[in-house]
Parts: sequence; C-alpha cells; structure tokens
Amino acid sequence: MKLVLLGPPGAGKGTLANLLKSSLNILHISTGDILREEIKNNTTLGQEAKKYIDNGKLVPDELVTRLIKNKFAKDDRISKGYMLDGYPRTEQQAQDLDKILKEEKKLLNYAIYLDSTLPVIIQRLGGRRICRKCGAVFHIKNRPPKKEGVCDLCQGELYQRPDDNKTTIETRMKEYLTNTKPIIEYYKKQGILVTVDSDEESEDVQTILMKTFNENGKSHNH
Ligand code: ADP
Ligand code: ZN
Repeated sequence: MKLVLLGPPGAGKGTLANLLKSSLNILHISTGDILREEIKNNTTLGQEAKKYIDNGKLVPDELVTRLIKNKFAKDDRISKGYMLDGYPRTEQQAQDLDKILKEEKKLLNYAIYLDSTLPVIIQRLGGRRICRKCGAVFHIKNRPPKKEGVCDLCQGELYQRPDDNKTTIETRMKEYLTNTKPIIEYYKKQGILVTVDSDEESEDVQTILMKTFNENGKSHNH
C-alpha cells in the first residue's frame, strides 16, 4: 500500500500516520520529521532547511525531493509500502514523485485529504507537543500524555515545535493554501483522492479509512 497524506498543518497527518502505521504495517515517511532530524544533527542540509522552517516557509522542492529519493534508495522496507506525510507539498513535488514512481513502475494507491477547519487547526497546533526521541504527537488537552512532558511510547522528552507559534502558523497556512491545496485537484484527476473529515478524532478517521481500504482494496491494489 502506497499512500500520500495531504492536508493543512494541524490536520492530524502525523497522528493519523502513527495510528495507520501499525494497522497497515508500512513505513511512515514524514519530510517534516526528516528535516527536523537534519537540523538536530546540524547537517549542511539541515542548516539550509532551518531558514525556511523557522519562518513557516516551504523548503525548496529540490531539497525535499532529494531527501525522499535518498530515503527510497536506502530503506528496503519501502517495497512493502509507505505513507508519505507532508510530501508532496507543491505541484512540482507531486510531479517529481510521479517521476520517481514511474521509474520504479509503481503507482500510488490513495491520496488521503484530511479536510479540517481553521478553528480546529489553530487549537491543535497551539497545544501540540512532540516527542524529541520518536516524533510521536501529543496535545495538552486533546491527547495528553500519561505523565506531563513525557512520551507514553518511549519516555522521551516532549517539546513544543518552535514553528508552532501564531505568526509562523499564519505563514504556514498561507503556504498551504497557495502551494499545497492545488495538488488535491491533481490527485482527484488521477482518481485516487479520498477525502475525510479531519475535524473528527484521529481514531475515527483511522476507522473510516481502514473501511475504505478494505472495500476498495482489491480494485486499488497495484
Ligand atoms: P505541518 O504539517 O504541521 O506543517 P511538518 O512537520 O510536515 O508540519 O512540516 C514542518 C515544516 O517543514 C514545513 O512548514 C516546511 O517548512 C517544511 N517541510 C516539510 N515537508 C516539506 C515539503 N514537502 N516541502 C517543503 N517544505 C517542507
Ligand atoms: Zn517518544
């Protein structure tokens, strides 16, 4: 199964991916997580990406596509399937991905669009906390960890992403509307778009999606 997760920041892509990961047993590839890892390790690529991320801007296409290509090349679990979370985010990236898939003679099964309203997005991003070690996503009100500031899964330290502040969230939303939203149409044309109401709890979204996969599974199995 090869999936793309689309939707505004705060739509719950990461949370959903973490839930789906175990039910589908496929890799979760988040360009945001990979970029934050590069920043943490202070690599040249990380230093370059940081300038954009801190300001809520999209990182240049060549850079993220390079990351995806590397990931595909070096992880052999890829052949079992994957969920792309936060990639593609521009029409150029969607075309780049199609090119990569074509070379491998593979097709995407679904592009999942997590449709969410602005008040919900703002509430989610404001209270979001991330595990420094495993990247798991919590929320101080909606999804509190058992112990404050500590990850339920790996006991890692939880932190608030520096780009989860009001000004940067506004820029990220603008970037989303200008660059990312149009690719929903791109996947609709390919006939693989599935839209879900992402104001719902991630567990409910997961249930709905698993049902869709099971019903359409055979016809969509490339
Ligand atoms: P969110 O979906 O909550 O905005 P992500 O972790 O997916 O968070 O992304 C964080 C930041 O990383 C983005 O604001 C952007 O600067 C950068 N980024 C992640 N993925 C991409 C991508 N595919 N193209 C360009 N920039 C990206
Ligand atoms: Zn953790």
